[in-house]
Amino acid sequence: MGPEDLVRVGSYLSVLGVMATWELLAPRRKLTASKICRWGGNLTIVTLNTIIARLLFAGGAVAAAAMAQERGWGLLNWVDWPVWLEFGLAVVALDLIIYCQHQVFHLVPILWRFHMMHHSDLDLDVSSGVRFHPVEIVISMLVKSAAVCALGVAPLAVVAFEIVLNSTALFNHSNVRIPLAVEPVLRWFVVTPDMHRIHHSVAPRETNSNYGFNVPWWDRLFGTYCAEPALGQTGMTIGLEHLGPPVCLNLFMMLRFPFVTTLGRYAGRTQP
Ligand SMILES: [Zn+2]
Ligand SMILES: [Zn+2]
Repeated sequence: MGPEDLVRVGSYLSVLGVMATWELLAPRRKLTASKICRWGGNLTIVTLNTIIARLLFAGGAVAAAAMAQERGWGLLNWVDWPVWLEFGLAVVALDLIIYCQHQVFHLVPILWRFHMMHHSDLDLDVSSGVRFHPVEIVISMLVKSAAVCALGVAPLAVVAFEIVLNSTALFNHSNVRIPLAVEPVLRWFVVTPDMHRIHHSVAPRETNSNYGFNVPWWDRLFGTYCAEPALGQTGMTIGLEHLGPPVCLNLFMMLRFPFVTTLGRYAGRTQP
C-alpha cells in the first residue's frame, strides 16, 4: 500500500467515522429499516467493489492520468497554464462529467437497472454513499479513465478529485441534521444531505432531480434542481415506489436486483 492509498483510506475512514457519529447524535430522520441489515449489505458491497476495481483496474484513473501525461494526451497537456488553474479546471470538469454520467444512468433503461440498486436503499445514511452495483462501478471507472485521458488531468488532481468525491458522497448521503439557518447557505457551495435526499425520494419527479455529488451548481444551471420534497424532509418516503413491501436486500439480492426487478416509472426522464 503506497502513501496515496494511505491518504485515501485514512480520509475515507475519518469521514465515515465523523458522519456515523454525527448521525447518531443528531439524526435528521427516523430510520425505518434494520440498520444491521442495511449496513451489512452496504459495507459488504463496497468491499466487493473495491476488490473488483483493484483486480480490473490496477492503478485506476490515476494510472490512466499518468499514461496520458507520459504520452502528451489530453487538452491540459497541450497548454501551459498555471498549475493551480489546470488543477481547478480538471476537478470542476470531472465533476461535470460525473453529473452528466449520473443523468445518463437515469435516462437509459439498461443503465437505470444497475443504478436502481443504489436507489433501493430503504433509508438514507452514510452507508448509502457506498452502495453501488459493481457493474455501475466498472462503467464509472471506464468513463472516468476516458475523461482523464481526454482532458489530460494530472495524476495528483485525479487523486484529489477522488478523495473529495468519496468524502462528499459519504457526507451528502448521511442522515445528519444541519442547523436550518446554515443549510440553505451551505448548499450553494456543496451538495448537502437535505439536497441529495430528495434524489432518493420515491416520487419520480423528485428522483429525477439533484444529480450533483460535489458542487450543486450543475443542477441549478441545467434545470434539474429541486429545493424541497413535496412531503417535506421528514415526511417523504425513501426508495422506489414500485418495489412493493419494503425489503432490506442482502448482498446476493443486491447483486441480482438489476436482473429481476422492473423499471418502474423512473427511467427515460432526467428532468424534475
Ligand atoms: Zn441517481
Ligand atoms: Zn445517492
